[in-house]
Amino acid sequence: MKKPPSPPLSTATLLTHAGSHPQRYHGAVSVPPHRMSTIVFDTYEEFEKVPKTPFYYGRAGTPSSAAFEEAIATLEGAHNSVSTCSGLSAILVALIAFTRAGDHVLMPDNCYGPSRKSCEDILRRFGVDIEYYPPMIGGGISALFRPHTRLVFMESPGSLTFEVQDIGAIVAAAKAAGIRTAIDNSWATPVNLRPLAHGVDVCVMSATKYVSGHSDAMLGVVSANEECWPAIKRAALMLGLCAGSEELYLASRGLRTLHVRMAQHQASALDIAHWLATQPAVKRVLHPALGSARGHDNWKKYYQGASGTFGIILHETDRTKIARMLDGMTLFSMGFSWGGFESLLFPEQPAPIRTAEPWTESGFSLRLHIGLEDTTDLKNDLEAGLKRLLA
Ligand SMILES: *Cc1c(COP(=O)(O)O)cnc(C)c1O
Repeated sequence: MKKPPSPPLSTATLLTHAGSHPQRYHGAVSVPPHRMSTIVFDTYEEFEKVPKTPFYYGRAGTPSSAAFEEAIATLEGAHNSVSTCSGLSAILVALIAFTRAGDHVLMPDNCYGPSRKSCEDILRRFGVDIEYYPPMIGGGISALFRPHTRLVFMESPGSLTFEVQDIGAIVAAAKAAGIRTAIDNSWATPVNLRPLAHGVDVCVMSATKYVSGHSDAMLGVVSANEECWPAIKRAALMLGLCAGSEELYLASRGLRTLHVRMAQHQASALDIAHWLATQPAVKRVLHPALGSARGHDNWKKYYQGASGTFGIILHETDRTKIARMLDGMTLFSMGFSWGGFESLLFPEQPAPIRTAEPWTESGFSLRLHIGLEDTTDLKNDLEAGLKRLLA
C-alpha cells in the first residue's frame, strides 16, 4: 500500500493490499521469497548501524518476513508482529517474553495440547509456576491472581471443546492488577476477531491453519501492542525462531484470499453443524455460533463470525463402531491440524487432559474441519458414516 488508509479500510481491503510494495519489486504485487542468511554491507558505516538497519542477518528478518509481519500487524491493529517457524513456537515466545523463575502464569484448562506440554516440560522446568483455570471463569479470574502472576493466557474458542471466553472481562481483571494478557487467535483469525482492539496485549496465531490455508506450510506469528512489542521481538530473536522464506511467501499469498475462504468455511460449517444437530447419533454440537456451545453469548459479543472448525459429541462410545465410521469416510480424512481447503474429522479425548475443571460430557468427541467441498457431498459422507456407527 502506498499510504496509510484514511478513512480506515475494511478487513477485505487490508487483506488484499497490506504488506504489498510493488515499487520495491519491479512492480510485482507479491513479495518474492527472499532466501537469505548472509547480508553484506557496502561500507563500515553501514555495518556500524546494525541492528538498526532493516536487514542484517537472515535469522533477524528478511523482506519476506517483513512483508508478512507488516500485513499481520496492520490486520491486527498491532504495533508490530514477528513471524516464527510454527504456531507452537509463537505461543512459546509469548510465554517466555514476560516470565522468569518464580513467576505465575494462568493458562486455560482447554488450551491446545502442545501448549500445555510446553508449559509443563519447559516453563515449569525453568521455575515458572503454571496454573490452569476454568475457561469460562471470566472476571472471576482475579481470585486466582497472586503477587507474582505475570500473564493470563487465553485461547478462544478452546481447542477440542470450543468454549468461547469472556475476553473483555478477563482483560479488565488483568489490567486492574497490572498483569499482561495474551490470546491464541488461530481459530478466528483477524477476519473474525481482533483481540488487541479488546485490550489484549499479545495475539498469537498458528498461520499454519487458516492464514496459509492450503495445508502446505508451518508458520506462527505473534503481534503485540507498543508496550509489549520490545519483549516479544527480543524473545523471538533470542530463541532463534525464524520462519522460512517459502513458508512466509505461502502465508502472505494465503492472506490475499483469507476473507473469501473464511466466509465459505463459516457458511459450510454452519450448514453442516445445524444438520448434525438434527441427527439422532449426535448428542451435542460444540460450535461457538450455536446456542448449544458454552460461551455462545461471548461469541456474539466479541466475534465477527465463525470459522469452519467445531466439535460434536456422539452418543456412541464403542471403539469398533467408531472405527467403522471413521475408516469408511471418503471425503473427510483423519488428521491433525485444520484450516486447509480439505475437510478433516479428528477423534479426540478432552477428559484426560483437563485438571482445573473436569470434562464430564459422556460420549465420543470428534473435531470437524469443514473444507471447501460442496456441503451436500460432505453431508452424504457424514450420513453414511453415522449409518455405519448405528449399524
Ligand atoms: C495447531 C494449533 C497451534 C499450533 O500451531 P502449529 O503451527 O501446528 O505449531 C496452536 N494453537 C492452536 C489453537 C492450534 O490449533
